[in-house]
Amino acid sequence: MAENRLVDAVIFDLDGTVYLGDAALPGAVDGIAGLRQRGVRTMFVSNKPLEPRAAYAAKLTRLGIPTPADDVITSAFVLAHYLGEHGRDLRYYVLGEENLRQELRDAGLLIVDELADQDPKEVIQPLGIDAVIVALDRTLDYRKLNTAYQALRRGARYFATNADDTCPMPGGAIPDAGATLAALQQLTGRRPELVAGKPSPLILGAALDSMGVPAARCLMVGDRLETDLRMGQQAGMLTAVPLTGVSTREDIARFARPPDFVIGGLHDLLALVAP
Ligand SMILES: [Mg+2]
Repeated sequence: MAENRLVDAVIFDLDGTVYLGDAALPGAVDGIAGLRQRGVRTMFVSNKPLEPRAAYAAKLTRLGIPTPADDVITSAFVLAHYLGEHGRDLRYYVLGEENLRQELRDAGLLIVDELADQDPKEVIQPLGIDAVIVALDRTLDYRKLNTAYQALRRGARYFATNADDTCPMPGGAIPDAGATLAALQQLTGRRPELVAGKPSPLILGAALDSMGVPAARCLMVGDRLETDLRMGQQAGMLTAVPLTGVSTREDIARFARPPDFVIGGLHDLLALVAP
């Protein structure tokens, strides 16, 4: 380990930090390459459960940031891994898309689907739903919401990949899992017992364990204050917020506890981390 290095590893958010849509953000390719040349480990964490780790790694590689799948951690991967260890015997009802469902199946979990056109009151018992999982689901409809509601009001356990209200997309944002969680909270008063994604210590722990680096020797870089920044601060990490994503200087100034660094882009990290 280099004596003069500020940290030994950097954990990056993806959307709004490394890339936006299908383009790397200015300074990201050179910044990450420079950190790696200086011996700094790099890891990527995303709350998006829509694709497998390998797909995000392939995207980074395509954008000029060569990355193996093991260096990407998603909320879907972390939740599936956790439930594979701690919720093996449960039958899950999933408000989520195919990638999440596949990751849950890969972890050995049983997913139940509702029967078509049944009386809502009769649906839950025959299906035997033990737990509801909420994620970004672009096929969400009334029937799914109702099934989740009926299961939760009967005491099903409750998990979520992430709690972001919106998901950034090229040209704007779309409703994310947080909007569904809000609807179910309005209906049942319940909140999930576990949200796997940022700012959960679960996803951060997975990233740190994978690198074998303690939090105190790691920098968290992300554009969202309530997830990326909060998670890094709670873990005792150094934090940096780039102005390339959703947060402006004004947002950062209003946040209860400011980050250690506000940066224009990832190339600014070189002078901070390994001068
Ligand atoms: Mg982001």
